[in-house]
Amino acid sequence: MSERKVIADQIAQHLKFYRDLGVRWIAVSRSAGSSTGARAEGNSTGVSGNAPSTPHAVASGVSRVFASTRSMFDAVPQTDETLEQVREDLGDCRRCKLAPARRNIVFGSGNPHAELMFVGEAPGADEDEQGLPFVGRAGQLLTRIIEAIEMRREDVYICNILKCRPPGNRNPEPDEIASCEPFLMRQIATIRPKVICALGTFGAQTLLRTKEPISRLRGQFIEYQGARLMATFHPAYLLRNPGEKRKVWEDVQKIRDYLRSLH
Ligand code: URA
Repeated sequence: MSERKVIADQIAQHLKFYRDLGVRWIAVSRSAGSSTGARAEGNSTGVSGNAPSTPHAVASGVSRVFASTRSMFDAVPQTDETLEQVREDLGDCRRCKLAPARRNIVFGSGNPHAELMFVGEAPGADEDEQGLPFVGRAGQLLTRIIEAIEMRREDVYICNILKCRPPGNRNPEPDEIASCEPFLMRQIATIRPKVICALGTFGAQTLLRTKEPISRLRGQFIEYQGARLMATFHPAYLLRNPGEKRKVWEDVQKIRDYLRSLH
C-alpha cells in the first residue's frame, strides 16, 4: 500500500471516530488547507452546530448550585504529600470487605501534576487484573475521548472512587466508599487539578454528595474548592448508548476550552 493511501486511511479512521462522537466539524489550521473547517460528517446541510465554544462562553457557565451540599472536598487541606506517600499509606489495604476478592489495588495512573483528573466508579475485571484504571473497553473509549480533546492519557490523571473491584462489578456500597474516599481526597489534594471530570452517575453523585441524576448534573461546571468539576456520562454507558456520545463530546469540549483559557 502506498504511503499516501496509508495516511488517507488513517485520516478516514480519525474522521469516522469524530463523527461517531457526534462531531460535525473539526478545525483545520489555515496552513493545512484553504478552509478553516473540515466536515467530519457527510451531510450537505452546512450546519456547523458543534464549533468549539470560546473561553468566554465557558467562563460564564459555572454553577454554584451544589456549594452547600459539598463537604468532603471542602475539608481537603493544603498538602505537601506526594502521590507515592498516599499510595504507601494505602499499602496492601484491608480496610473494607473488597480486599479478599481483589487481585490488584487500582490506585490511579497518569501525570501527578495533571490539570485534568478523571474519576470513575471502580475497577472492573481488566483493571483488577492489570492494577491500572480504565484499561478495558470503556477505558479504550476514555482514551479516545481524551485524544479527541488533543490530550494524551499521560497528560491527565485517572482514578476511581473505589480502588478495588466490587465482585461482579456490583455497585459500590457505603462502607466501601467510606473506607476508600479519604484516599481519593488525598489524591485530589496532592494533584490539585484545575478540572475534575466525574465519570458516570456514581462518580458524580459521590463527589458531589447528591442524588441528582447524571442527566441533570452533566454539562455544567460546578465550582469545587479551587477546581471545576464537570460530570459526564461514563464511557461504559456510551458503549451501551452510543447515541449519547455527542453529549460527552460537548462536555469535554467545555473542559478543553476552559483549560486552554488558562494558558
Ligand atoms: N469503569 C470504571 O469506573 N473504572 C475503571 O477503572 C474501569 C471501568
